[in-house]
Amino acid sequence: MPHPSPPLPTRRAELVARLHADTVYDLAVVGGGATGLGVALDAAARGYRVVLVESDDFAKGTSSRSTKLVHGGVRYLAQGNIALVREALHERSTLLHNAPHIAQALAFVMPSYAWWEKPFYGLGLKLYDALAGRAGLGPTEFLSPEQVMACLPSAQTKGLHGGVKYWDGQFNDAKLALALARTAALEGALLLNRMREDGLRYTDGRVSGLHCTDAMTGKAHEIQARCVVNATGVWVDALREQDGSTQAMVAPSQGVHIVVDKAFLPGDVALMIPKTADGRVLFAVPWLGQVILGTTDTARDDVAREPLAFESEIDFILKESARYLKRAPERRDVKSIWVGLRPLVKPPTNEGSNTKALSREHTVLVSRSGLVTVTGGKWTTYRAMAEDVLQKCVDSALLAPRGGARTEHLPLVGAEGGAVGGAAGLAPVSIGAPEGDHSYGSEQVWLAQLPGAQHWLSATLSEAMVRFAARHEYALSVEDVLARRSRLLFLDARLAAHLAPVVGEILQSETGLDPDVSGFLRLAAQYSFED
Ligand SMILES: Cc1cc2nc3c(=O)[nH]c(=O)nc-3n(C[C@H](O)[C@H](O)[C@H](O)COP(=O)(O)OP(=O)(O)OC[C@H]3O[C@@H](n4cnc5c(N)ncnc54)[C@H](O)[C@@H]3O)c2cc1C
Repeated sequence: MPHPSPPLPTRRAELVARLHADTVYDLAVVGGGATGLGVALDAAARGYRVVLVESDDFAKGTSSRSTKLVHGGVRYLAQGNIALVREALHERSTLLHNAPHIAQALAFVMPSYAWWEKPFYGLGLKLYDALAGRAGLGPTEFLSPEQVMACLPSAQTKGLHGGVKYWDGQFNDAKLALALARTAALEGALLLNRMREDGLRYTDGRVSGLHCTDAMTGKAHEIQARCVVNATGVWVDALREQDGSTQAMVAPSQGVHIVVDKAFLPGDVALMIPKTADGRVLFAVPWLGQVILGTTDTARDDVAREPLAFESEIDFILKESARYLKRAPERRDVKSIWVGLRPLVKPPTNEGSNTKALSREHTVLVSRSGLVTVTGGKWTTYRAMAEDVLQKCVDSALLAPRGGARTEHLPLVGAEGGAVGGAAGLAPVSIGAPEGDHSYGSEQVWLAQLPGAQHWLSATLSEAMVRFAARHEYALSVEDVLARRSRLLFLDARLAAHLAPVVGEILQSETGLDPDVSGFLRLAAQYSFED
């Protein structure tokens, strides 16, 4: 079988130089998270001329801080929102198929500590299976207490009545964001991180592009575009304000996750508690060699780039985990703690006939001057959201029609050849296992050819991976490498801090730019939860 196509270079100076061309883009996307990257890929794959600007790094916002589940949304089932669940289940299987090195099936067990929980949740999950139909990942099973303990050897046995096992998906969120960016680039889109939109451009009262500032050089750029999409997550209202809107569209809600050692949840099955003592959901999920515990849902009225966890959120996760795990995690066991902001939508009501809340959790809205704003939804449905955005742009005559979406059957970079490894003929490795060469799917062949492929800086990070991040994955700083190309900051913040100087040296030798080691060390202190 032939090798997958060579990875594109992402040398920043060359990417920025492409902006200088006197181009009128069809579409300019602001925001390089799940939503914006999904839109850029969909549009580029249809043949539109696309540019995307991200003020920080791809997935620096909410899109690297999720629970990492590709899910149909069992809770929408409880609300009777069948259409939403069906759509998310379809998207779940599409993603698992198009990026098998980044997203895979995962078994979950809900242990029952009350007699009614097993039949109640079990029947609901049987309905979940039925809705998934051929997109199902495995049948829901009723488990005896012994079977629960075989799946979850570290679960609390006292009062255990048995449980239910069901299937959903799991993924590496920031890695998926990078795969979307790189696939969009292969389809002809120009994507720039560290490029901040700081003003909209107007012609005759209609939005006609952007004013941007390059965060690396301070240089201003103007981008002309027929259509501008505001995909800035919890920050969408800042752009809407520039466009004259006075009504907030997003109500941010904070979610905290804690990472602890794999010993707290051995095996490859996740633990799910649908209703904790105070009615919240709790997950313990094996991920990249560690275990994620979370999450919370706390309203916030600020939108910090690096929000801090509230003490009450940390207490909640540790206290509730202690109720369901035999060995209770304590503060000293925390290897990393990260906080994300959900862009929950409250659609404005006073913006004329163009205002339309779609019949699902995300909203696409076109302002009177033609600014398209999309927010809400979830990672799992990014592709369906992108289709809705493109449809809306065409319906609003902001884009000329160019055929239907092509992304449903479009493998992302690293998935060439179908199964993991594809053309490289390599066996799939679980997302629960630590990161390694296998995380690159079919691109391992290119990684292996870079200097330092056998020089391991840690058990999971090689010199070649840092070079690959700089050459092909848009990495400019130590944080880009250790937080989002590798996930070490999210898995073990102290180890990430320890590696920062050597990663900085390799990165600087590739880019010639200051890799900002000291900035990363300050951030790692926040993630490593140093009192
Ligand atoms: C705690 C938590 C857990 C979650 N778990 C899951 C899960 O398990 N599964 C799931 O499917 N979904 C999950 N979600 C939801 C999912 O993560 C989000 O829906 C998704 O990441 C939102 O992506 P986004 O692109 O809209 O926003 P973001 O990822 O925040 O992207 C917006 C981007 O815009 C950029 N930006 C802002 N202003 C500008 C500007 N002026 N110029 C240029 N760029 C700008 C920002 O830097 C940012 O990168 C979770 C969310 C949270 C908070």
